[in-house]
Amino acid sequence: MTQPIYNFSAGPAMLPAAVLKEVQEELLDWQGSHMSVMEMSHRGKQFMSIAEQAEADLRSLLKVPDNYKVLFLQGGATGQFSAIPMNLMPEGGSADYVVTGSWGKKAIKEAGKYGTGRLAAQAEGGFTHIPDPSAWDLDANAAYVHITPNETIEGVEYHQIPDVGDVPLVGDFSSTLMSRPVDVSKYGVIYAGAQKNIGPAGLVILIVREDLLGRARSTCPSVLNWQGQAEAGSMLNTPSCFPWYVAGKVFSWLLDRGGLESMAEINQRKAEALYAAIDNSDFYANPVDPAARSWMNVPFTLADAELDATFLKESADAGLLTLKGHRSVGGMRASIYNAMPEEGVNALIDFMADFERRKG
Ligand SMILES: *Cc1c(COP(=O)(O)O)cnc(C)c1O
Repeated sequence: MTQPIYNFSAGPAMLPAAVLKEVQEELLDWQGSHMSVMEMSHRGKQFMSIAEQAEADLRSLLKVPDNYKVLFLQGGATGQFSAIPMNLMPEGGSADYVVTGSWGKKAIKEAGKYGTGRLAAQAEGGFTHIPDPSAWDLDANAAYVHITPNETIEGVEYHQIPDVGDVPLVGDFSSTLMSRPVDVSKYGVIYAGAQKNIGPAGLVILIVREDLLGRARSTCPSVLNWQGQAEAGSMLNTPSCFPWYVAGKVFSWLLDRGGLESMAEINQRKAEALYAAIDNSDFYANPVDPAARSWMNVPFTLADAELDATFLKESADAGLLTLKGHRSVGGMRASIYNAMPEEGVNALIDFMADFERRKG
């Protein structure tokens, strides 16, 4: 019997085995077309049907209201760090940023190239909590308010949508989109790089309320101009066809599993089991405020950092891969996206208990 392998990588991350298998079966000949999806014209009827089905399934999973466009773009979430101010912030304008971790820090820095990225709130004393929204210093004239609903590196997640009044709320959902239902109507813009919880790298999904289109500066590169991309069906130039196709398979896998309500139940169960294992031990620790702990990325430290290397080697030998924490935080990080089955989390918990018994 070969031991099961579980990959806890933060991104690019594990994809559902069933999806990879289907992709493999269709790799050389997509549904009798005698072509791989990699070899098809993006404007042909075959790829158009793939693209349309992916969008329809995404809309159904997230219950996207009709007055929102869904775009399948390139340049990653980082590309959108620039696109957001260029599409929403007038020359000389200002936007509010709430910084709860490393990605929010990068987003505000990038915005500063195009105007004022104003720090409306930041978690004090390390990124371990969400500052109380009632204390945020919001500017009623801001072009938008930017938040990072899940900070992938620190493992800090919003469990409630903050109320920012009439200013459009923009959320970097890169590591949490599709992990649970989202009330899209509360946001002006939702965006997510695919390689965490959706599909292969090379694709970024953007959901934008229609009334926010048409505000882009004339200097905005065409490929980053949301209105232009919306009018072109995300095909202003050649899109990221293969990742779009794989993302569509992931959406259909999610629908088969009962959609985002059922994913939320599974994800909450996985996260609670892992945090309980950490909290019930004196050997492992997670510094994040329990009210803001991520369901997707669980960083933890060992009581003795000298044991980190041994932990990583032995966990990998046990089939638990890529548990090394981000270099800025140290320790370990278990990313437990949709594709990580409960058995994988339970295998990690068992390994951690055994390691503590032997070395703690
Ligand atoms: C990974 C990640 C990014 C960066 O994504 P790229 O696709 O590499 O640009 C941005 N924000 C968050 C929250 C992330 O997890």
